[in-house]
Amino acid sequence: MIAEQINYQVNKLGFYGEFGGSYIPELLYENVEQLRKQYLHIMAEPGFEQDYNALLKDYVGRPTPLYFAERLSSYFQTNIYLKREDLCHTGAHKINNTIGQILLAKRLGKTRIIAETGAGQHGVATATVCALAGLECIIYMGAKDVERQAPNVARMKLLGARVEPVYSGSQTLKDATNEAIRDWINHPQQTHYIIGSVVGPHPYPDMVARFQSVISQEIQAQLLSKICRNYPDVIVACVGGGSNAAGAFYHYLENSKVKLVAVEAAGRGINSGASAATSVLGTKGIIHGSKTLLMQTKDGQIIEPHSISAGLDYPGIGPLHAHLIETGRAKAVHVRDEEAIGAVHQLSRLEGIIPALETAHALAALKYLDLKPHQVVVVNLSGRGDKDLDQILSYKL
Ligand SMILES: *Cc1c(COP(=O)(O)O)cnc(C)c1O
Repeated sequence: MIAEQINYQVNKLGFYGEFGGSYIPELLYENVEQLRKQYLHIMAEPGFEQDYNALLKDYVGRPTPLYFAERLSSYFQTNIYLKREDLCHTGAHKINNTIGQILLAKRLGKTRIIAETGAGQHGVATATVCALAGLECIIYMGAKDVERQAPNVARMKLLGARVEPVYSGSQTLKDATNEAIRDWINHPQQTHYIIGSVVGPHPYPDMVARFQSVISQEIQAQLLSKICRNYPDVIVACVGGGSNAAGAFYHYLENSKVKLVAVEAAGRGINSGASAATSVLGTKGIIHGSKTLLMQTKDGQIIEPHSISAGLDYPGIGPLHAHLIETGRAKAVHVRDEEAIGAVHQLSRLEGIIPALETAHALAALKYLDLKPHQVVVVNLSGRGDKDLDQILSYKL
């Protein structure tokens, strides 16, 4: 029997299986439609590719190394390679996407950039590329987050961005997103909205995945030169919205020899009421313009997620990942706050690398994977832990 071929690429209407699409207010239709019609054309222009690659190389610092972690490997009795996105300018993978979108915004003739941010990481990556391109930058951020994330607020301001605190609702990420969308509706002509993950209405999830796909493109070439084979047996990445995972999986989606592992934050435990384990706790619904799995009440109110890592503290999951998990192509693993803290300490001591709390979830998942001595495992090291030091040191195990 021939197995039915499942397609993991987005279709013409913006769907991955039944997830995705574009559920947006009428007033944004023209903006999103302009982006949808043009993103692939613009990204395929030789001039665009040249500019994008040149900035990735000289500004971001790509290619990032693929590092064989010898002591970590011997601890887990397998072969572990770390894809060092933590070495990117600004300390994480997010800049791969913001560089791409700022170049796209310029070609679309936009003069004003808006974005939302929770912990401030995407805000900093956006403010950075706005400074680079000389474009106006407005970052929406929940008032509570503005208080909690003072160093990132200071960075954004230093980079020339205006940070707008949002006082509605729970004064966190989802409220900031609503406010950014409101701004977009009011200034559709001049404004490009830089979304920071593989979420939002089509074409954002596909566009962001393509910008991040440089990660797996590099892994292919790097593995080829290290092990004479361009794919690993397993790839592990943490998932908030899912952009670093999408980038690490991208060129392996159709290669069934590669096992894909998506690690979500279980917070204080999946059934503790304080978690961000969307793939188990989520139900189908619409969030930020796309149909996907999200944590919601029976009445469709969003349930506040919890994770120790701000970047995984999101009530939804990108539509690509909802599809990958539902079809069984990717395996979802859940890691609690304290396990992530343990993994930060472990990698710091074994390899001299302090990972971000988000990334630590991917590392903590290794113990659940039943890894074998002959296997090759790539962990996407999405970011560095400097931003999390206070939280790591003050955590009571
Ligand atoms: C933002 C962030 C994440 C989560 O976002 P994704 O879109 O799921 O990749 C993961 N790791 C780091 C270091 C981050 O800053």
